[in-house]
Amino acid sequence: MKSETLEFKTELKQLMEIIIHSLYSHKEIFLRELLSNASDAIDKVRFESLTNTALAEGDEDWKIRVIADKEAKTLTISDNGIGMDHEAVIENLGTIARSGTRAFIEQLKNAKAEQRPELIGQFGVGFYASFMVADKVTVVSRMAGTDKAVRWESDGQGSFSVEETQKDSRGTDITLHLKDDAEEFLDEWRIRTIVRKFSDFIEHPIMLVKTEEKDGTTETTEDRANSGQAIWLRPRSEIKDEEHAEFYKHISHDFEEPLKTIHFAAEGTMEFKALMYIPKKRPPYFFSEEQKHGLQLYVKRVFITDNCEKLLPPYLGFVKGVVDSSDLSLNVSREMLQQDKLLDKIRKSLVSKILAALKEMKEKSLDEYKTFFAEFGPILKSGIAQDFEHREALAELAIFSSTRTEEDQVVTLDQYVEGMQADQEQIYYLVGESKQALKHSPYLEVFAARNEEVLFFTDPIDEIVANTLGEYKGKKLKAVDKGELPESINKDKKEELQKTYKGLFDFLGSSLEPVKEVRLSTRLKDSASCLVVEEGAMGAHMERIMKEMGNDAMLPPSERILELNGEHPVVKAMQALYDKDSSDARLVDYGWILYDQAVLAEGSKIKDPAAFAKRVNDLLLKASS
Ligand code: ADP
Repeated sequence: MKSETLEFKTELKQLMEIIIHSLYSHKEIFLRELLSNASDAIDKVRFESLTNTALAEGDEDWKIRVIADKEAKTLTISDNGIGMDHEAVIENLGTIARSGTRAFIEQLKNAKAEQRPELIGQFGVGFYASFMVADKVTVVSRMAGTDKAVRWESDGQGSFSVEETQKDSRGTDITLHLKDDAEEFLDEWRIRTIVRKFSDFIEHPIMLVKTEEKDGTTETTEDRANSGQAIWLRPRSEIKDEEHAEFYKHISHDFEEPLKTIHFAAEGTMEFKALMYIPKKRPPYFFSEEQKHGLQLYVKRVFITDNCEKLLPPYLGFVKGVVDSSDLSLNVSREMLQQDKLLDKIRKSLVSKILAALKEMKEKSLDEYKTFFAEFGPILKSGIAQDFEHREALAELAIFSSTRTEEDQVVTLDQYVEGMQADQEQIYYLVGESKQALKHSPYLEVFAARNEEVLFFTDPIDEIVANTLGEYKGKKLKAVDKGELPESINKDKKEELQKTYKGLFDFLGSSLEPVKEVRLSTRLKDSASCLVVEEGAMGAHMERIMKEMGNDAMLPPSERILELNGEHPVVKAMQALYDKDSSDARLVDYGWILYDQAVLAEGSKIKDPAAFAKRVNDLLLKASS
């Protein structure tokens, strides 16, 4: 019989090492992981057999068996699930296919030791947790519908062997050859306690198998270790927080408790139960394509899929949980699932429940909500661009900092609108890196003078949100660094200043080639200059993000307008120079300085810093001589 030895993928090797060392005090979770896998494998074959009855024929007594052999010091977890063939074993137990693994390993290496278990928990260690307690693991598996079996074995040190073998029945046996310091896991009570703690709600019976020598014959007995109650079907008031926590950890692989539990039953025209959890933290691979849809779909307690994209819109993909419907037919194939009208209705109801729960959290426990929003705010806000129906509800859930909020205070759009000045018609915002970077921006000067609040849009998605939202409750959203502002100085005064500066501004407009126009500003009070773009054009911040992502070649930068403050002494002095001699060479130099200052103020980089320094130094020299 052919046996081959293969190397683990490098990334996996590193990951395993870190896992084994950092999860030392959580060793018992290996059993949870193996039982979860066994249960998933049974769910799979049961589901497949709905449409292909031959697959499970003759062996539909779904069970997971845990066999402790004290003499051999082995613990075997055996299931009659879907099984794996040669390829599947190599693919599943030799690599980590998940994208983002490398980035995750980096994150792990940089994390403090005490943070690691949590991180690993979020990533999900699965099968490899076995090597925390075993110095050798043997997997024997036979895939449903085949009669060949495969044997996989490894000491977790870098390589594994695979060979063909025999197995009487479908499914997978995983045998752990326990390390000396892990013999406690052979103890019946220890196993029972772990099963009850972590895996009680696994629907399939988890049987503890005991063999006893009696009068010269070996007698095998088995009894059940889990209750198998579906937690989501139980009355809400009866479920303890700890039970929610364990169930949540089981379905999410998270180490922490959930931030919020949403449990409800829909009755009437459609009937389903939903038990959903909002995690405390974003999993490390959250934005990768591998991210599964967070809800598992059951039909009358039978697991159907954990990959039903219809159940929740992508912007709620972080919600974990279970939906169990009694209206869908058990005989659903995955394709049919995509079309089912009922699913649309279920989704609608789930979305409104989740949004209502978030709203309640925001109103009743703002601190908790801020934690949530720091993790999931960006993804939630992406819904504003995706889901027209819930656009306003989602906008209501957004929180921002502003020119009026203190260090860790936030403001909602509703609160903003409430605090608007009597004659204020628009909701003002400024896009940028952080509140820190924006709070002294010259764009805010006129708003400070008029006592109008400006929101800081510091999340990369905020500019897109502002553009798709357009307005909130009838008030237009307006970027303070784009287009024209409502008049802040009296019309006659403005016209007079425009007349005064016409010659100088036209001259500067044609001399400074990066700008499209030089014009009088109505937004500055203390600063001399700023750059603005036309209404609707891409702002400076978005331009920088695009550049960082390497997309700048595809998009030409927005044309800038240089605005000058007609009441600023420097601008007045330039006008005086211009009146004396409109061809004075210093005018262009000063124009460049004002332009470069404005570039810095919008948070961008000066194209030619050396030239800027030289111009400033010339001025300093003149001033001091
Ligand atoms: P995860 O469960 O997070 O996918 P694991 O490392 O635990 O990661 O398992 C990797 C894969 O190996 C599983 O996705 C599954 O396809 C397969 N697998 C593990 N255990 C079993 C089992 N008992 N029966 C069938 N397939 C299994």
